[in-house]
Amino acid sequence: VNLQSWGGLSSEQETLVPEWRHETLPKPAADGHTLLPYGLGRSYGDSCLNEGGAALLSSHLDRLISFDAASGEVHCEAGIVLKDLIEWALPRGWFLPVSPGTQFVTVGGAIANDVHGKNHHVEGSFGAHVTSLTLLRSDGSVLECSRSQNADYFRATLGGLGLTGFIVAARFRLKKVAGPWVDQEEIKFRSLRDYFALSEESKGHNYVVSWIDCLSARPDGSLKGIFIRGDHAAERGEPVAKADARLDVPFRLPSWVLSRASIGAFNWLYFAKNTQERAQSRRPYGPFFYPLDAIGHWNRIYGKAGLLQYQCVLPFRGAHESLREMLVQIARSGQGSFLGVLKNFGDQASEGLLSFPRPGVTLALDFKNEGARSRALFERLDRLVLEADGALYPAKDQRMGPEIFRASFPFLGQFCELKDPAFSSSFWRRVCPDVH
Ligand SMILES: Cc1cc2nc3c(=O)[nH]c(=O)nc-3n(C[C@H](O)[C@H](O)[C@H](O)COP(=O)(O)OP(=O)(O)OC[C@H]3O[C@@H](n4cnc5c(N)ncnc54)[C@H](O)[C@@H]3O)c2cc1C
Repeated sequence: VNLQSWGGLSSEQETLVPEWRHETLPKPAADGHTLLPYGLGRSYGDSCLNEGGAALLSSHLDRLISFDAASGEVHCEAGIVLKDLIEWALPRGWFLPVSPGTQFVTVGGAIANDVHGKNHHVEGSFGAHVTSLTLLRSDGSVLECSRSQNADYFRATLGGLGLTGFIVAARFRLKKVAGPWVDQEEIKFRSLRDYFALSEESKGHNYVVSWIDCLSARPDGSLKGIFIRGDHAAERGEPVAKADARLDVPFRLPSWVLSRASIGAFNWLYFAKNTQERAQSRRPYGPFFYPLDAIGHWNRIYGKAGLLQYQCVLPFRGAHESLREMLVQIARSGQGSFLGVLKNFGDQASEGLLSFPRPGVTLALDFKNEGARSRALFERLDRLVLEADGALYPAKDQRMGPEIFRASFPFLGQFCELKDPAFSSSFWRRVCPDVH
């Protein structure tokens, strides 16, 4: 079967369907085929792909097992999609404790990348809310993992990139909310200094994120952007329509559609359309949390070569300078991106041995894949991330090398001892070629 990642990579893989009730992993047809769980393929690069190996699909493991209305703890199978969970939970007054920027993510995928949302500074990453998980290992064992039982496997599996075994089910806590509405405020800013000042003053808000026009970055620190902060509305309000896609990109567009000129024009319009310096509104949860989900298959606008995302985190000390330098490099290269996102993570350290979120500023940018040109730019950015003691996000990557991977994850040695030797990925073979 041909499996895809969100950035447009594809991989020929055998597919296997584990059954929870059987409590053992299916065996690959060919000797030596390694295994890798696959959720919805919303990872951008090759961390969800296992070229030439087998994919363990979680698509049929989509059942809610139990819910404790007193504590908000849900027990569900790992293939359940966040969108389905939200549509079940919201009418009952509950929401995800942490949500990534798309709701088309499985619970297994959310755990394996220890995903973060706009509320990292308040709630930490997804893993912080997981109380236990059931892990199938290739040696036939079924491990119940939590902070008190098999705690080392628990820490290795949060953010473990699907390499410690197959998660069949998990327990985690939902968050109580009044209803489906969010009070949002958008504030324009024109420099990195303003961005940092707004982040500081907005710590009391539950959700914060900024959209930036990276082509507007200048060496003096000027940068156009829109700072968005929000909180769940205190009243229940009217029910809202489900957050379904309203438009769809039916096929991959020709690559000339995205040029420096078209991206520049889009960014200019986006900034200019928001005429007010500050705008307040009450919005349904869909457009607030998942604006990109409104356009089905939006990744296809990047054409046949696909898109590359670059997401790093830079520790606060020195972040202003490093960010300024990175943004200037990107603006100069002319390889703009319309989806530039800046966000400050909070102080809460992630528990996962390979978790990406950590105190600092995270920058995420989408680029059209321009082959060698894109790689040359990314390598310049890598140097800046390394110098700043920062890290890259595996979920968004398809080309980082072993050096920056090792530098990004100080607990890698401990992780390697807990990895399941029968599991591997295209990503893993690149960043850790010596560890099976
Ligand atoms: C539009 C968009 C916005 C996004 N925004 C964010 C964001 O704000 N924050 C963020 O952190 N991420 C974000 N992401 C990335 C996304 O949240 C992650 O890549 C997520 O892990 C994808 O989940 P998935 O179910 O599609 O899993 P896949 O992409 O299929 O797999 C991801 C990883 O999980 C492993 N895995 C899947 N199922 C299991 C299982 N049952 N047991 C063990 N391992 C498993 C896989 O082996 C793989 O390593 C975004 C992605 C998109 C496309």
